[in-house]
Amino acid sequence: MVGAAIVRRLTAENCEVLTAERKSLDLTRQSEVECWFGDNKPDAVFLAAAKVGGIHANDSYPADFIVDNLQIELNVVRAAFAAQVKKLLLLGSSCIYPKLARQPMTEDMLLTGPLEPTNQWYAVAKIAGIKLCEAYRRQHGADFVSVMPTNLYGPGDNYHPQDSHVPAALIRRFHEAKVAQTSSVTVWGTGTPRREFLAVDDLADACVFVMKHYSGDEFLNVGTGEDMTIAEFARLVAEVVGYSGKLLFDPSRPDGTPQKLLDVSKLSALGWRAKTPLREGLAEAYADFLAGCGRAL
Ligand code: GDP
Repeated sequence: MVGAAIVRRLTAENCEVLTAERKSLDLTRQSEVECWFGDNKPDAVFLAAAKVGGIHANDSYPADFIVDNLQIELNVVRAAFAAQVKKLLLLGSSCIYPKLARQPMTEDMLLTGPLEPTNQWYAVAKIAGIKLCEAYRRQHGADFVSVMPTNLYGPGDNYHPQDSHVPAALIRRFHEAKVAQTSSVTVWGTGTPRREFLAVDDLADACVFVMKHYSGDEFLNVGTGEDMTIAEFARLVAEVVGYSGKLLFDPSRPDGTPQKLLDVSKLSALGWRAKTPLREGLAEAYADFLAGCGRAL
């Protein structure tokens, strides 16, 4: 999802885009990754590849989330350094911050408290990825940087009924309820957690901006700077999809972190801001879903 958005964004830049898709290169295999870098010798790398999923997937497959992500990061970052890549940008996630971090979360809150248990495996792998970039910068002067995006939505999302993130899950559930004329839809959890949602094409734009304009030691948050409750978000998705039935909440499902709102002042000070209004972005995501462009449908 993120990789495809970065490729779309790069069509506006004067560069040749090399991609490494899952079916042609297994990033968890060190020797395959080393061969790919040796053969292709890229100047710059966006490391968007990762094993990702929503709250249920993170909680259900802890070994896959920690192993695959550590392997991908280690293989790609090491191979990129060996191949003398001039700049590398690693994508992390806002779940790296402590579960009860003060809001909005600034970059210096990393490792100041315990993680949210449901996604700690993924978070630990992503924290390792940040530290890997920092270590290569400190020891070798490599221009490797990281960005921490907030919750994403948009074209190319995974619409798996259990394993997806909340935007794709609700787009699908409300659409199916609209078609089947079901009187109510169940939303997981209490509806009270607060989340921030960023359009994936805005993230891609931020990644290209950072690639071009930022070479600092510290990673950067990427978000909109605004959040809402899951209940408010669910109502908005229902409106966008055109579902007018009732919303029920299922508190037996996990809520996860009570609030995840990024402080985006560092990236704003550099001159980047998110552009896509949430309603508009969700309408684009729904159109993409209707066109069958999502996965796990
Ligand atoms: P998180 O930000 O890491 O917790 O990732 P998610 O996108 O999976 O979940 C965000 C919030 O949405 C959590 O509080 C979930 O309980 C809530 N939520 C409500 N309905 C759903 C659903 O159908 N799928 C998912 N994944 N989350 C849901």
